[in-house]
Amino acid sequence: MRRIQHFIDGQHTAGISGRVGDVYDPATGKVQAQVDLASGSEVDQAVASATKAAIGWSESSLTQRTQIMFRFRELLASRTDELAKVISSEHGKVVSDAAGEVARGLENVEFACGIAHHLKGEINEQVSDGIEVYSLRQPLGVVAGITPFNFPAMVPAWMFATAIACGNTFICKPSERDPSAAMLIAEWLIEAGLPPGVFSVLNGDKEAVDALIDHENVAAISFVGSTPIASYVHERATKAGKRVQALGGAKNHMLVLPDADIDMAADAAVSAAYGSAGERCMAVSALVAVGSVADELVQAIANRIPAVKVGPGNEPEAEMGPLITQEHRDRVAGYVERAQKAGAVAVVDGAAADLPSDGFFYGPTLLDEVTSDMECYQDEIFGPVLSVVRVDTFREAIDLINSNPFGNGTAIFTRDGGAARQFQHEVQVGMVGINVPIPVPVAYHSFGGWKASLFGDTHMYGPEGVRFYTRAKAITARWPDPTSSQVDLGFPQNQ
Ligand code: NAD
Repeated sequence: MRRIQHFIDGQHTAGISGRVGDVYDPATGKVQAQVDLASGSEVDQAVASATKAAIGWSESSLTQRTQIMFRFRELLASRTDELAKVISSEHGKVVSDAAGEVARGLENVEFACGIAHHLKGEINEQVSDGIEVYSLRQPLGVVAGITPFNFPAMVPAWMFATAIACGNTFICKPSERDPSAAMLIAEWLIEAGLPPGVFSVLNGDKEAVDALIDHENVAAISFVGSTPIASYVHERATKAGKRVQALGGAKNHMLVLPDADIDMAADAAVSAAYGSAGERCMAVSALVAVGSVADELVQAIANRIPAVKVGPGNEPEAEMGPLITQEHRDRVAGYVERAQKAGAVAVVDGAAADLPSDGFFYGPTLLDEVTSDMECYQDEIFGPVLSVVRVDTFREAIDLINSNPFGNGTAIFTRDGGAARQFQHEVQVGMVGINVPIPVPVAYHSFGGWKASLFGDTHMYGPEGVRFYTRAKAITARWPDPTSSQVDLGFPQNQ
């Protein structure tokens, strides 16, 4: 059985905890590898290596850092297919979708190639007679990133590209369900010239996460995952005195007004609800149909579902792969069963779909007549299930979205510019799409939700990422003429 170790000090490093996890191929349901799960000793080892490396790396020139990022960018771009196949085999998503994930992660590396522009300080000359004030941004030291299973390459890239380019050393704790993408990234960073210890991979579960959070040499924690764990990580890391950004789960609403182009809205709903089997934090899982649009829209979506090709991720014609585990597949099926008992209408039931017999497959599901008190509306199902909520007015639609505890992404489909503008202004959600179903911001903006979708103050990557991974220092400088020096015990005042 293939064994996935840790990546510490520039090399694959065997675990010593004696604990391992199974890594499945979700398309066959078989275990394909075992991954070492770190205990406190391996965490100490990784942090010691990252702490040692931080001394030299924080002093490395911007030229050195950006040249390495440029080289890594070329390696990642030319090996996208290789990485996409590895992601697909452990996660289950189709290879083309995995390649899309790599492309979005690449944007963050490209952003990091231009980090010098974002690390420029500010200066005021002559704030007082002969005095300048300037501000610098300096790295924090060792920072750690804990990432979810659903984007095993892109989410680490949201974090490490900026963290490293800002002069920090970075320890990635990927999901134990699909750890190989992070291991390949670690190898390729070394090949690009990154010194050992600047990027490490520590495989593991809660034990590794807790030890990383509690380690005195770890200055900051970035987390992406489900809301209960995000909240827990935020609380524990804050108590430990760490800087922390913890992104949680989502329930993303797509609002469709009666004036929308129905075909465009239906195409968007199918793509955003069933792409990656709904295992995206920006997947659309609630469709809010306003007034007369509902019947026609539900029918248009239902008509498209039979054409969605479900199959193993490595089959070229497959558009939607399996779910991550059998347990998760059964959890999704349970939600659909209980939704029907609660009064929802299964226009299309994924349990009845013609699916491959092996693996963790569940078909695209469309639930109509869903109401806001139902479990299938309230919970993040994280599967290929789209719930349609019918409302009478635009006002009701906005209020429904704003009363949801999550606030990650949302979208409006309309031809009415005024309605779109009102929506973008009033909706209490961090990322908003206007006729764009999955509004993941480009790497030079920042990514983050509101409410239960984000714990902490800074969003991830882009300008907010630079702020998160650096701390400010303000310097007040005077180069006086020694002949005019004198003792003055008064409080310094600006002249
Ligand atoms: P998860 O919360 O189960 O795991 C995320 C990470 O936390 C993993 O590395 C895991 O090993 C670790 N972890 C799990 N249980 C832990 C515990 N008790 N204590 C400490 N660490 C623990 O999430 P997942 O199932 O891997 O990913 C899916 C979730 O992530 C969904 O809720 C999805 O919405 C969310 N997500 C959010 C975003 C976003 O940007 N907001 C992006 C991607 C995924």
